[in-house]
Amino acid sequence: MKIAITGATGFIGNELSKYLMEKGHEVIAISRMQAFPKLEATAFFTWDHIEKNPVALNGIDAIISLAGESINQRWTRTAKQRILQSRLSVAKKLAKIVEQLSQKPKVLINASGMSIYGTSETKAFDENSPANITDFLASVVEKWEEAIDQIPTARIIKLRIGVVLGNQGGAYPKMILPYKLGVGGKVGSGRQWISWVHIKDMIRLIEFCLNHEQITGPVNGTAPYPVTNDQFGRTVAQVLQRPHWMPVPAWMMKILFGELSVLLLEGQKVIPQKLLSQGFQFHFATIEEAIRDLSGK
Ligand code: NDP
Repeated sequence: MKIAITGATGFIGNELSKYLMEKGHEVIAISRMQAFPKLEATAFFTWDHIEKNPVALNGIDAIISLAGESINQRWTRTAKQRILQSRLSVAKKLAKIVEQLSQKPKVLINASGMSIYGTSETKAFDENSPANITDFLASVVEKWEEAIDQIPTARIIKLRIGVVLGNQGGAYPKMILPYKLGVGGKVGSGRQWISWVHIKDMIRLIEFCLNHEQITGPVNGTAPYPVTNDQFGRTVAQVLQRPHWMPVPAWMMKILFGELSVLLLEGQKVIPQKLLSQGFQFHFATIEEAIRDLSGK
């Protein structure tokens, strides 16, 4: 397949490009940068180039769009604008580019987030759960998904991605650091859910969605067994053979992280019902398997 990827230079995109190239696909990376030597791709174009020459994408079979301003920063008013606008603008650009292609890609897989379900300590959410817009990130995801719907592609997958665990980026290195330093413990009440997914499964499930034409609409990109923050910490402690003893109170997280602390203090239990019903096999279904693999134990 010939696949265009936006955000290919990021944590997920980088791994994905490498994997798809190894599988014999052609990868066309679209970036704000002129070059990114670390990236394995067949071709590398700037947004500027593609907007002026959309024909460069003629003949592509799929688009995977991962681009967006990082949410891992203090959510000041201007940061919030960047987080939202970057996603809306990427979707708008893609809509315009695809419109001009004589042969449209058959599928678009666009990153999205599970914040759209709202947070709960008691409920579980699958793809049939309604949107529950209670905070900033939930409203970003809602608007992002609306913008994605404007891209003229027959099959659109909105991949509601969980906390992706990998050593090369994302939240995981920061989550295990206190344990490595011997000061690990639950965050806040410890009862908040973490719906996580191992980076290797994340990449495999994207490929699975590409190849299964019956999959469409929202798809939860999370492992089948979410854990609470306390369970997560206990498992890290057990695998790394470090203590789990020093709780971090909610008020401290709020001072340290501001509004972003909602991501650490509240969560949602998300089940990947669509992937499971289509027969996707997770290589890392439990948190213990994932952490053992990531820490080489
Ligand atoms: P990264 O932050 O690692 O990469 C995102 C990429 O988006 C960057 O490499 C960059 O590519 C591009 N980008 C960054 N800022 C902007 C901007 N202001 N305007 C346009 N493009 C920008 O993200 P991940 O790989 O971790 O995640 C990919 C997507 O999945 C993101 O949209 C993220 O919100 C979503 N997601 C990720 C989760 C995770 O745990 N990692 C969880 C839930 C959702 P370039 O510089 O080449 O243009």
